[in-house]
Amino acid sequence: MRWSYRIGQVAGTDIKVHVTFILLLAWLGFREYGVGGGAAALEITLFVLALFACVTLHEFGHILMARRFGVRTPDVLLLPIGGVARLERIPEEPRQELLIAIAGPVVTLLIAAALYAALRLAGSPASLATFNVESGPFAARLMAVNIWLLGFNLIPAFPMDGGRVLRALLATRVGLVRATRAAALVGQVLAVGMGLVGLSSQGSPMLILIAFFVFIGAATEASAVETRAAAQGVNVAQMMVTQFRTLPVYATLAQAVDLLLAGEQREFPVVDNLGRTEGLLTRDNLIRGLRERGPESTVAESMTSPAPTISPSTPFQEGLERLRASGLPALPVVDAAGGLVGLLTMENISELLLVRRAVAR
Ligand code: ZN
Repeated sequence: MRWSYRIGQVAGTDIKVHVTFILLLAWLGFREYGVGGGAAALEITLFVLALFACVTLHEFGHILMARRFGVRTPDVLLLPIGGVARLERIPEEPRQELLIAIAGPVVTLLIAAALYAALRLAGSPASLATFNVESGPFAARLMAVNIWLLGFNLIPAFPMDGGRVLRALLATRVGLVRATRAAALVGQVLAVGMGLVGLSSQGSPMLILIAFFVFIGAATEASAVETRAAAQGVNVAQMMVTQFRTLPVYATLAQAVDLLLAGEQREFPVVDNLGRTEGLLTRDNLIRGLRERGPESTVAESMTSPAPTISPSTPFQEGLERLRASGLPALPVVDAAGGLVGLLTMENISELLLVRRAVAR
C-alpha cells in the first residue's frame, strides 16, 4: 500500500506503518494536549504505542502460524484499524488458512486475559463491565481496547480475520475463488452499512475511515485471488503480444516516430542484421533521444541496452514479477534459439487477464 514506512524487521518480516496511523497518533496527542496539557498528551501517546505493540503481537500470531505451514510473510502493515500481515501466498488447504486467521485473535485474547489477571491481582473488581476505554488505570483501558479489537477482528469482512475465517469455511465447499468472491461481497455490504452509520447523526469520522478500509480491503483481496486463479498454469507464451514491429539498430529516431504514430505499439525491440535482440526502444527513450540527439540520430544510441529478455516457457506469474522488477513497460520474449518471438507488455497482460476472468465466470 502507498504511504507506508518501514520501521523495523523481526524474524524476516518487515514492520511497516501506514501514514494514517501516525496521523491518528498526532491527532490524539494534539487533542489531549488541548484538554489536559503535556502530561495528558504523553499519556495518550504511550497508550497508543502500547496498543500498537498489542496489534503487532496479534499479527505475529498469524505470521508464526503461517510459518508452521511453510508460508513466509514479507511484511506486516499497521493501519489505524489494526495490522495486515501480507502473507506470501494463501495456503491451499482451507483448514490451514482457518488456523492462520484464528491465531491472531487468540493472541489478542491471551493479552486481554493476562491484563485481566494482573488487574485482579492488583485488586480490581471482577466484573468486566467496570472496565472501559475512556477512564480508569492504564492497564484496564488497554485490556478494554484489546477486547474491542478482538470483537472487531472477528467481523466477517476482509481485511479482518473474520473475513478470512468466513472464506476458509466457504472454501471447503465451493473452492477458493468463489469463496473469496462471496466473502468480499459480505465485506463490502458491511462496509457500505458502516459508512452510512458513520455519515448519520450518531456516526463518527473513525467509522467512515474503517468502512473505507474494509471496502478497499475486500476489493483488493477479491481481485488478487481472481488474478492468481486466471493466471494458474499459464506461461509467458500465452500472455505475450505476437504481432509487433521491430526496428533495425541503424534506424533513425524519425523512423521510430513514424512507427509509433502508425499504430498502438509503444515499445519496440531493436534487432541487428541477424534478428538478434540488441535492446528495447521505449516511448520515454524515444522522447529523450529526440530532445538530446535529434531525429536523425540512430535508435541504437537511445535504446535501453541490453534489455532483459524472458523465455516463452517461463510461468506467467514469474514473468509478471520480472516485468515489474525490470521497471520497463515491456520485455522482449526470446526463445532458446535466440529468436525474438514476442513482447510481454503490462497493457496486454491486463487486457488478457480481464478476458480470462470474464471467461472463468
Ligand atoms: Zn488478525
